Amino acid sequence: MRKVVLLNDLVTSDITYGYLYEEYKRLLEIDITTHFMESSSLVDVACPGCGKKANQDIYKKMKMNFKLCSKCGTYYVSPRPDPQSLEKFYRLSNACIFWRKESLNLPESKLNNLFSPRINWILELSDEFLHGTSLLMDFETKYPFFIKQVHKQKIFNSVITFKPKVYEQSALLPDGMLTEYNIENYYGRTNVITAFESLERMFDPGELFSIANKCCPPGGLLLITTASGSGFEYQVLGEKAPNINPINRMNLLSLEVLSERVESAGFEIIELSTPGRLDVESVRNVVKESDDVQIHPFWKYLFKYRTEETWQSLQDFLQVNRLSSHIRIAALKK
Ligand SMILES: [Zn+2]
Repeated sequence: MRKVVLLNDLVTSDITYGYLYEEYKRLLEIDITTHFMESSSLVDVACPGCGKKANQDIYKKMKMNFKLCSKCGTYYVSPRPDPQSLEKFYRLSNACIFWRKESLNLPESKLNNLFSPRINWILELSDEFLHGTSLLMDFETKYPFFIKQVHKQKIFNSVITFKPKVYEQSALLPDGMLTEYNIENYYGRTNVITAFESLERMFDPGELFSIANKCCPPGGLLLITTASGSGFEYQVLGEKAPNINPINRMNLLSLEVLSERVESAGFEIIELSTPGRLDVESVRNVVKESDDVQIHPFWKYLFKYRTEETWQSLQDFLQVNRLSSHIRIAALKK
């Protein structure tokens, strides 16, 4: 299994689009109060990683309650909005509309920087594992640019978007592209499923594993990227982590339970890595901005008094040991 992948070329501003992300978070906090603070739309859930009930509350972020599973190490929001309220939120909240509209203005060069590692990843894996005709399904598409680029490569006979969440960006989807809502049409015939940053925001992540199990024939590929609670940023900063937010990141599965779930869905994992290089920078920025931040004194010391050399070495350690907060999984259906 491939365990270490290095992606050196991304910095925070590329991932979060800098100030746009700050404005998005500001709107999100207001929207969450408007949409979800009536308790009728919030439901208690068991751990989305392992199903354990009755875990302890760990912190609140934007008024939503996070729990930590004592069995599998997953951080998750409970109670959480029910699926219908979530759907409505993604479609109609000011924060989500702002994000999608602003993303329309991003220059192609920036989008290329963001998505070319994923395109290359798919090309390499397809080249190695797929033979003959093939169908790629992007699960709950959020990145029309990615789909457009995959389409352009012409390596798949069909590219399908399943339950796309692109709304204001739908004009960016390639012409003639098939949008699908009925998953049963694709049982046993989907050669590649891509699910980028979907797992972390689903009401029930089990749905993705079940779909992958039913849709991929033997030899089919499942590619997932997601935020993970095992990551350094989330472990050290807790609710202060700038990249935790309760609606887009409701399920922060631990690396261990995530790989268990992929395997139980009938897949062999061929790559499980945490290629991100942002965790150290993220924690360092929080320490730099506030002396009073409540984190372990060891980390405060390290980021206040040590130098670039130590920080770099720490980031390398996180990457090699798969402790960065962004996970990439490729798995092959048995
Ligand atoms: Zn659990």
